[in-house]
Amino acid sequence: MDFSLNEEQLAIRDTCREFAEQEIKPLAEEMDRTGQFPYALIKKMGALGLLGLPFPEEYGGAGADFLSYCIAIEEISRGDVSVGITMEAHTSLGSTPFYLFGSEEQRQRYLPPLVSGEQLWSFGLTEPEAGSDSGGTQTRAVLRDGYWHINGAKAFITNAGTDITGGVTITAATGTRADGRKEITNIIIPKGTSGYIIGNPYKKMGWKASDTRPLTFEDCVVPAEDILGQRGEGFKQFMHILDAGRIAIAALSVGLAQACLDEALSYATTRKQFGQPISKFQAIQFKLADMDTEIELARLMYYKAAWLHMQGKPYAREAAQAKLFASETAKRAADQAVQIHGGYGFMDEYPVSRYWRSVKVNEIGEGTSEVQRMVIAKHLGC
Ligand SMILES: Cc1cc2nc3c(=O)[nH]c(=O)nc-3n(C[C@H](O)[C@H](O)[C@H](O)COP(=O)(O)OP(=O)(O)OC[C@H]3O[C@@H](n4cnc5c(N)ncnc54)[C@H](O)[C@@H]3O)c2cc1C
Repeated sequence: MDFSLNEEQLAIRDTCREFAEQEIKPLAEEMDRTGQFPYALIKKMGALGLLGLPFPEEYGGAGADFLSYCIAIEEISRGDVSVGITMEAHTSLGSTPFYLFGSEEQRQRYLPPLVSGEQLWSFGLTEPEAGSDSGGTQTRAVLRDGYWHINGAKAFITNAGTDITGGVTITAATGTRADGRKEITNIIIPKGTSGYIIGNPYKKMGWKASDTRPLTFEDCVVPAEDILGQRGEGFKQFMHILDAGRIAIAALSVGLAQACLDEALSYATTRKQFGQPISKFQAIQFKLADMDTEIELARLMYYKAAWLHMQGKPYAREAAQAKLFASETAKRAADQAVQIHGGYGFMDEYPVSRYWRSVKVNEIGEGTSEVQRMVIAKHLGC
């Protein structure tokens, strides 16, 4: 068993760590306060190759392995989770479906502007009435005269309405399968298509600079061939996308948890009470030690899930476990980081206040903690 990272993985980690420290972190407070989408940062990340890390060079990607991509998500999220989730949703949910399930013509057409960061792409699975029950899609697409006619709504879609969003891939019910269940197909809808209506951004508790919006489709029409893979393969495709996405979200949680530890440790060594730094009190030391231990475990869990993925072995259980444990680790870390800051931790000028508000959604997005436990229980044979 070899736990060491190879040269490429270390180089990507160091580049992202430096970029997060020098370029992202100084802007994090302002992004949280204004909620402005970080166009300039995204442009720089595109130039560094960070928006196309796991895709082959023939499409303009960096050709990095999946673990390198996850490590990059961890480091960028350590700088700021709004930027981390923008990168993750664009790569795992927006671009990967084209690479895995698109035709060669679709890959050539859609991937180059996405991997360069010129465009972002979103993935619309969740609906107002279909969240955890993601197969309960109510958006309908009817094939008529060579075109899909789409009607329905999507909720909480990341990167759905930025100035550089190229479009969305949505799940739509396109019929009924032989077993009576919905036939789901993934349909590509470029921005500007008539009847594709982008709603106003939600007002959120955290991830403030990330773009999250509702989408509506009112007799939206796209050509019959603008689907991913074959008609009816949508459910299988998005389950695959979500399994891998969960590893990246685990990495995002580890990055946020590490940021909590960074801030808590730094504060504990400078804040004095009873004539000494509070880091000298065993009660504070034990909190920091527990945070560090849990973060290390969560990191190893996402490394293992990513490794299984790269070996072509089954990884759905390990991905769910990594996502579950890392998001709950990050929540405990954020809570303890605020506790270690005392009253100052409740003030917005301290990063831990922002971390505490942002961490909750990690237990919700890309499958709630309950859904992760359901996946794990299914693997136990329940
Ligand atoms: C900021 C943000 C960004 C997002 N980005 C995207 C995106 O880009 N694309 C996209 O498609 N979606 C996105 N989502 C949606 C996200 O994946 C869903 O919010 C999530 O899957 C939960 O669905 P829901 O909100 O409808 O909750 P519900 O499914 O209504 O769940 C409500 C509660 O009931 C629990 N529950 C539901 N069913 C069960 C069950 N069978 N057993 C036990 N408990 C259960 C849930 O765990 C939860 O606690 C985003 C969400 C947020 C908040």
